[in-house]
Amino acid sequence: MPNTDVMPTAWIGGVACHGDGPAHTVRNPATGDPVATVALADAGEVDAAISAARTAQSDWGGATPAERSEVMRSFADLLRTHSGDLAAEEVAQTGRSIRLATEFDVPGSIDNVDFFAGVARNLDGKASAEYSADHTSSIRREPVGVVGSISPWNYPLQMAAWKVLPAIAAGCSVVLKPAEITPLTTMTLARLATEAGLPDGVLNVLVGTGVDVGSVLAGHAGVDMVTFTGSTAVGRSVMAQAARHGTRVQLELGGKAPFVVFDDADLTAAVHGAVAGALINAGQDCTAATRAIVAASVYDDFVDGVAQVMSEVIVGDPTDPATDMGSLSSITHRDKVAGMVDRAVVDGVRLVTGGTIPDGPGAFYPPTLLADVAEGSEIYRDEVFGPVLTVSSFADDDDAIRRANDTVYGLAASAWTRDVYRAQRAAREIRAGCVWINDHIPIISEMPHGGYGASGFGKDMSTYSLDEYLTVKHVMSDITGVAEKPWHRTIFTR
Ligand code: NAD
Repeated sequence: MPNTDVMPTAWIGGVACHGDGPAHTVRNPATGDPVATVALADAGEVDAAISAARTAQSDWGGATPAERSEVMRSFADLLRTHSGDLAAEEVAQTGRSIRLATEFDVPGSIDNVDFFAGVARNLDGKASAEYSADHTSSIRREPVGVVGSISPWNYPLQMAAWKVLPAIAAGCSVVLKPAEITPLTTMTLARLATEAGLPDGVLNVLVGTGVDVGSVLAGHAGVDMVTFTGSTAVGRSVMAQAARHGTRVQLELGGKAPFVVFDDADLTAAVHGAVAGALINAGQDCTAATRAIVAASVYDDFVDGVAQVMSEVIVGDPTDPATDMGSLSSITHRDKVAGMVDRAVVDGVRLVTGGTIPDGPGAFYPPTLLADVAEGSEIYRDEVFGPVLTVSSFADDDDAIRRANDTVYGLAASAWTRDVYRAQRAAREIRAGCVWINDHIPIISEMPHGGYGASGFGKDMSTYSLDEYLTVKHVMSDITGVAEKPWHRTIFTR
């Protein structure tokens, strides 16, 4: 369990280290109590971690796929043994409910390790062949090298897993910077990876601020790739830092997922799906259902149903298994959510339920439903990242699709209908990295996650994410043995 002693702030070359930066207290946002104190890393530790990663990468990249896979299988076993501790740490640093941690975060992360242990042995590529009659062409898929990874606070364990696993399966080494308010499970992940036999320096962790460590890592000449999960604004600044050295970039950014309910939908299913999809992780989910767009003929029933189910959600002590929804990740973030809701209400949105900060300690905010939301409004367009669902109505199917796509984001969306043609149209025409039909939220290790537009580019999870961490090299070998090749005629004739 976490404690209030000064914790190591970095994992560099297989060793726990203390940073040279200022002290930082990690707090349980549900109580305000200190959970751990760390001395933050700074630019000096960035250099040390990248150097350790560089040293380790050539041997790890040169290991056989089977050798890499074996380490990852041991890693999965160790995570299973420590799953209770991981869940407790995740709850303490985020305020999420223990059910979310034990039924989603921890098993999902372990399944990712299991999956990538298998993927590590499956480097797909084109068949070697004589595509030119005079040469044999073959493809080598090689690790990108040293990867600088930056992860957010909303799903600390899962986001760290998504960043690290495909990279190490591909033979890369990693320097990972978690959000400084939620470093605990990332540090535990690195320690357990080392215990599982991951060579020193293949996975390094730096707990530091975005400015002191994140931007230095992103702009460092020693990294071969930068992968970032977080807000769109910071993602763009990370991309600008990486551009200084022309470094390869992958970005997983914000979202504003539409939840489209057609008039033939199973309304009970849509109502339950909307509440679960909007409130998972207290709405701090980049794919959360945020904009319900509902057929006018079922609009009132949908609003009444969602308000009723929201009123039954138990908000409270995250460690109590009976709790459905814990706190938000910080008071600062809770106040940002509350401010957006308050401004929407002042602007004339109908507050159906929630919308008031409860008395008492902790960063709690109630399930909140806002109806009759205008298309151009801040609450309709911008990411709230809290337990807030907006509802507006559409006139016909064309209008529904237009409204779903009326966003700069494109991470996820769902369509609720019993009509197979409507479902297929929604899947085809909604611009998002994932479109669910009659569900919203489920993810699976085998399938990719990543966005369009302001939601970023590139994929996490699945074999598509392995591709992010591999370079494709074409090897073309002459098979004629002649000194003067036919193509030389383009240069000289003799
Ligand atoms: P954030 O952008 O504030 O921070 C993300 C990470 O970037 C943190 O580690 C932070 O310390 C670091 N950082 C901050 N400033 C930096 C800088 N100038 N240079 C480099 N790094 C910097 O995001 P957050 O508030 O931690 O997370 C919430 C956001 O993440 C939401 O927008 C959410 O939609 C998004 N998110 C996206 C996905 C996805 O897969 N697309 C998944 C989870 C979260």
